Amino acid sequence: MAGVRCPYCEADEDKVVDSRALDNAAAVRRRRECLSCGRRFTTHERVVELPLMVVKRSGLKEPFERAKLADGIGKAVAGGAIAPETVEAIVAGIEEDARASGPEVTSDALGMAVLERLRPIDQVSYLRFASVYKGFGDAADFEREALELRKTTAPKRRRPGR
Ligand SMILES: [Zn+2]
Repeated sequence: MAGVRCPYCEADEDKVVDSRALDNAAAVRRRRECLSCGRRFTTHERVVELPLMVVKRSGLKEPFERAKLADGIGKAVAGGAIAPETVEAIVAGIEEDARASGPEVTSDALGMAVLERLRPIDQVSYLRFASVYKGFGDAADFEREALELRKTTAPKRRRPGR
């Protein structure tokens, strides 16, 4: 296994002799010993977490915020129809998918991902989210979605007044 290139002899085999977390474990300081020349040197390693960026309809980008998405979903959830842990799981799943597909995700894609996940869980929350979701705010879109939902979930229900 290749190690870090020794600053003295440039060999790249070393062993870690001491390891210490810094900054609440966001970074780690390692004391290494070169296996070739025996000299010691220190490395600082920082966890590189690529920020997931949300591209809004305006084209503006902002860092993805789990809490913000959870809050948006929470507002749509009527009367505790969905447990907070389920909302957390929805958010985690969406974030995971978004990170897997790239460093950027559009706010529209996030909104649709929420809708996809809410739909099978609670239809009231689903429709409420659809109605407040800014990227989905176009009235025609919402109407179409609501119709679609009625068609797929209650095909036999008679419409009132007919
Ligand atoms: Zn060396």
